[in-house]
Amino acid sequence: MELKWLAIALILIGLSAFFFLPAYRLRLALARPFPSAFAKILRKSIPSYARMSVPIQLRLKRLIKQFLHEKKFVGCDGFEITDEVRVTIAAKACLLLLNRKTLVYPKCEFVLVYPTAFVVPRVETGLGGVVTHQNQTLSGESWSDGRVILAWEHIQRDRENAGSGHDVVVHEFAHQLDSESGNTNGAPLLPSAAHYQRWAQVFEREYALLTSAEQAGLETVLDYYGTTNPAEFFAVATEAFFEKSHALAQHHAELYEQLRSYYRVDPRLWQ
Ligand SMILES: [Zn+2]
Repeated sequence: MELKWLAIALILIGLSAFFFLPAYRLRLALARPFPSAFAKILRKSIPSYARMSVPIQLRLKRLIKQFLHEKKFVGCDGFEITDEVRVTIAAKACLLLLNRKTLVYPKCEFVLVYPTAFVVPRVETGLGGVVTHQNQTLSGESWSDGRVILAWEHIQRDRENAGSGHDVVVHEFAHQLDSESGNTNGAPLLPSAAHYQRWAQVFEREYALLTSAEQAGLETVLDYYGTTNPAEFFAVATEAFFEKSHALAQHHAELYEQLRSYYRVDPRLWQ
């Protein structure tokens, strides 16, 4: 009889450790102060940080601590993961979560970092079932199986050209948000059917406008890469929203409004 109670007690201890230990560890990580060395990297990675309101700055630092606690960073091709790499990627990824009631990319477990652009094999089936094998060189890639892959050289280049509208980290983590709805199709999780309807109206129109502008060779706020498909359009629009907010709001007011409503921030206040 005593053995039975002992077994039950052990099972209960095991279950509570299983369910409560991760939450306890997260609480401990969040309670630790934000290291001053991290703050220096944060200011360098996000120059607009200094112009954010204090509550937003605190929220960003808390999100970064959670991101660093939860994600595993893996250096590829001999690349060394330093604090600068971890904090820079975490800061840019967490920009997208600032004011939203959300978990911190719950499906993303690993961040793989290459020193430079990486090559991935692609298999495509064309007309008549002809299968072609190609190598594609990428600066970033987002997978719905829990991985984001990035090239450090491109992250540094984007950082040096702040305001260019290019940010590979923001781009790939926009794909992560997009995939939370179950499909990576340019429509992330939205609160209601009416929101999806309005989103589709605005995004379809803007997608068509960008396609026409590309065909006419016009200069655009959004990168032509957004015409690849609706998922890429959402990622490219997100980059412009955070990097070229004034230009996007001026030339694509309805698109800006949809993104402002989704991300629940107005980056024009910091730029
Ligand atoms: Zn993409």
